[in-house]
Amino acid sequence: MATPALPIEDVPLPALHASHAGSWLCGPEGSVKAASKGEAVMAAADTPHLILNAPLVATRLGYPDLSGLDLLELFAFVHPARFCVPTPKGLAHALDLPEPEDGAEVPGMLRKAAARLLATCESEDWAAREGAWSALQSLSRLRWPWAAVLSPHVARPERAEKWLFSRLPEWEDSGERPPPGQVLLGETAILGQLGRLTGEGAEQREGQRAYAGQAGNIFAPREKRDKPHVLLAQAGTGIGKTLGYLAPASLWAEKSGGTVWVSTYTKNLQRQLRSEASRAWPDRRPDGSRPVVVRKGRENYLCLLNLEDALQGGFGGRAAVLAQLVARWAAYSQDGDMIGGDLPGWLGTLFRQRAIRSLTDQRGECIYAGCPHYRKCFIERASRASAQADLVIANHALVMVNAARGRDHAQRPTRIVFDEGHHVFDAADSTFAAALTGQEAIELKRWILGPERGSKGRRRGLAARLADVASYDEAGGAAIDAACEAAQALPGEGWIGRLAENEPSGEIERLLAAVRAVAYARDESGALDAGYGIETEAAGLEGDFVERAQMAAQALAEIRTPLIKLGVRLEAMLEDPPDWLDGQGRARIEGARFSLSWRIDTLAAWEALLGRLGGPADPEFVDWLSVERNESREFDIGLHRRFLDPMKPFARVVLEPAHGVMLTSATLTDRLEDGPDWPSAVAKSGAPHIEVQPKLADAISPFDYASRAQVLIVTDVKKGDLASLAGAYARIIEASGGGVLGLFTAIRRLRAVHGRIADRLAREGLPLFAQHVDPIDTGTLVDIFRDDPRASLLGTDALRDGVDVPGHSLRCVVMEQVPWPKPSILHRARRAAGGGSAYDDSIIRGRLAQAFGRLIRSREDSGQFIVLSPAFPSRLLSAFPPGVPVIRLTLDEALQRVAAGVSCADTTLKEDARE
Ligand code: SF4
Repeated sequence: MATPALPIEDVPLPALHASHAGSWLCGPEGSVKAASKGEAVMAAADTPHLILNAPLVATRLGYPDLSGLDLLELFAFVHPARFCVPTPKGLAHALDLPEPEDGAEVPGMLRKAAARLLATCESEDWAAREGAWSALQSLSRLRWPWAAVLSPHVARPERAEKWLFSRLPEWEDSGERPPPGQVLLGETAILGQLGRLTGEGAEQREGQRAYAGQAGNIFAPREKRDKPHVLLAQAGTGIGKTLGYLAPASLWAEKSGGTVWVSTYTKNLQRQLRSEASRAWPDRRPDGSRPVVVRKGRENYLCLLNLEDALQGGFGGRAAVLAQLVARWAAYSQDGDMIGGDLPGWLGTLFRQRAIRSLTDQRGECIYAGCPHYRKCFIERASRASAQADLVIANHALVMVNAARGRDHAQRPTRIVFDEGHHVFDAADSTFAAALTGQEAIELKRWILGPERGSKGRRRGLAARLADVASYDEAGGAAIDAACEAAQALPGEGWIGRLAENEPSGEIERLLAAVRAVAYARDESGALDAGYGIETEAAGLEGDFVERAQMAAQALAEIRTPLIKLGVRLEAMLEDPPDWLDGQGRARIEGARFSLSWRIDTLAAWEALLGRLGGPADPEFVDWLSVERNESREFDIGLHRRFLDPMKPFARVVLEPAHGVMLTSATLTDRLEDGPDWPSAVAKSGAPHIEVQPKLADAISPFDYASRAQVLIVTDVKKGDLASLAGAYARIIEASGGGVLGLFTAIRRLRAVHGRIADRLAREGLPLFAQHVDPIDTGTLVDIFRDDPRASLLGTDALRDGVDVPGHSLRCVVMEQVPWPKPSILHRARRAAGGGSAYDDSIIRGRLAQAFGRLIRSREDSGQFIVLSPAFPSRLLSAFPPGVPVIRLTLDEALQRVAAGVSCADTTLKEDARE
């Protein structure tokens, strides 16, 4: 969407900008002056100023109550569902304005941006005019600061505007897709398809062609029941693996009429896949349906019923303004995806992230066909669209959940490509976990009984949702009553406070109080980790504790039994439907039966977890008790169970019913000194659990790492010396002129380093952003980093994997130390089962390889990978691609190399640490 060419004018409003480098004020007449933090705060408290990203400016000024006319809110109103990097430069680009040269020019730019946005509202071809006037009336009533400024610019429409819920289109129901045909894909056909996708005249890449041919194997007809084709395909960066597997996938979908699922771990790759898939499929088929669909977990999408509640008084204050802006977005959104879709990631942080979450369907409270918006529901639309799609782009968690408890068998994935396959283990670990914690239990209580008294909204408990069933079917009604009564044993509002005061109420709270007491009694962390989570093995527990657990298990069984009875009654009603049960009612009961079986499974898993306490340990599982804390504040308490090898349930639930599965990644195997460790990769794929021998493929990256990258191991920054660590980061960022991605293993150290160096760097024109410090979501932080070659970014695990920043913006990755695994109870058990220190080493090499992978994203990229660790074990060096020079050196020497860039990968590299 192009911004209309409008004259760049100005608005006579005061403006304020604050960064780590300083603060600037612009008066209503347009004169700009540098100001102290105190002056800036006084001015903003006195008169609403134009600002950009209020929470960030507030952090910079140390004034959390800052408010004003935030340009981002205005942008979200004028251009809903449109992307904008939330920085002065990003806003300038989005509005086609000249980039401000420095901080002093920003207030002036903000005035021009406001003028441009206001002028857009007056322009004939404002694409988002529909609904704007009505939304503005509501926003005026909510005293949104922009409302008064905007009102003269948004004309009242001639005809009354339809409200959102009648404007959204209904989804169409279509018949079931027939099962896919059994087809054989020849290599020539696959390579022909690959040629079409890469385009006429594109350079033929041998590695990619071989990879595509091997990927084609998973689409062959299955030879034996429960024995899918499994391929483990390692593909170095730059192979072109996405098109490599999309070539056979698109060919198979076309010839067989079936659906291929591609599953990713990061949203970034989903975005990339969406764009690459457009080479193989049109946006729409002739009948209007979409051949490629992005499908996410339901907790990602806007729930229209929740939004309606929020618009009608369920939200108050700032959250109510957010609801209005979300409603604007919903009318223009491509798919209603609020988390990583086209809703700007920064919108939640401007208001309250929690408010965004409460507009989604977090806990499966959907009432399906009982909902007035069912036929327009984004979630239902996505689910139906994926049933008809040739390609479904999803994430690992969703594919597993869908395979484990998908509503519709016909929709379960049978041909699956797990890209970013090195994350499948972790995703399976969470999917097949059981956790009986206060938070989980209170959610179950709300689902059964409805929200507690005093809470707003139209959510209802089981009794209200199934009132018609209860009045028609006596046994069903009695089961609902019994479940409601038994659910009183679950924790209620304020449970964590009661536990702290040792006044638990009900069987489950009493158990959680015992968990808390045991966890604190056994805590060995001392003052070292004060304020962070504590955990202890579920072993050697006293008789009293075991008795408590048994009573709690009994209380849970008393909830589960009537839920099972209710499920049977619902089943009976579906088989022999009463006259009054129309199509909508039927869909609602099917929905209820589906969510019932999910709860019944959860309760059964909790009971099994409790039932084993006090008995002999089951070698298949790892059980522990925990108190979750954040800066000394407790937020959850409970018992946990994980599979020692989560690939076992994965193999049974995902692999066995499938026909073809491929796991692919640049780091699928551990890199040992003598080459890739395939036996461990096979064991970790889950295939041996169903007695399948996977095929293996390895496509080596075409990048010339040896001359484009260096690994620098800095040996004179002492471990534990924060001042030296911070100093080292600052000097590296200065030497490289920004473009540094700093990776930390502890949030505490990250914050301490950022706090010490951010101001100093900003004064030199080197902005430093940080996860866990800046009030900005991770995706937006990466967007900001990508957009500004002088910016640097500090972060933790999520950045080690999810950052894809080709080009000049990322030219140096710095790790503060060797990324040792966290010594948790779960890790200890897996380490013991996996070969002790060799297990740790393989995890660390995997992390190093992933982090290194951020550096070189394209053939032209170059850069340095720095580890600040005096004692970096040589056995970990095989994590880096063969041939990359590895040099142990002092910080001063490293700075010289950073300043010189990678062109100095030259004859002086004789000190390669591998030798
Ligand atoms: S059908 Fe369910 S998820 Fe969709 S809008 Fe209604 S309650 Fe929300």
